[in-house]
Amino acid sequence: MPVPEFRVIATDEGEGVTYTCGCPCVPTARPGADGAPGFEHCCCGKVHFVGDGAQAALTGYLAERKATKKREPDYETGAVRLVVGGAEREVAWAFPRE
Ligand SMILES: [Zn+2]
Ligand SMILES: [Zn+2]
Repeated sequence: MPVPEFRVIATDEGEGVTYTCGCPCVPTARPGADGAPGFEHCCCGKVHFVGDGAQAALTGYLAERKATKKREPDYETGAVRLVVGGAEREVAWAFPRE
């Protein structure tokens, strides 16, 4: 799977990070005011975290799901860095393997 192309967009609550998902949504994740990671889990199963420690937060989130969900897909994962709200932030993603 090619690395998804993330881009920064303005939202009512400040800048967020989205990507072209392939479904009708515009999945957008925003870091908290303190830089803590925020995330969005799209209706189609793709998830991304944005903020300091995004990769660790994503890893914990997926482990929690794997432990509690009956049907949890395997994910392709990766991370990039983007400037969001004036500061460079981690963007960590996990998309279900097709
Ligand atoms: Zn959707
Ligand atoms: Zn989607």
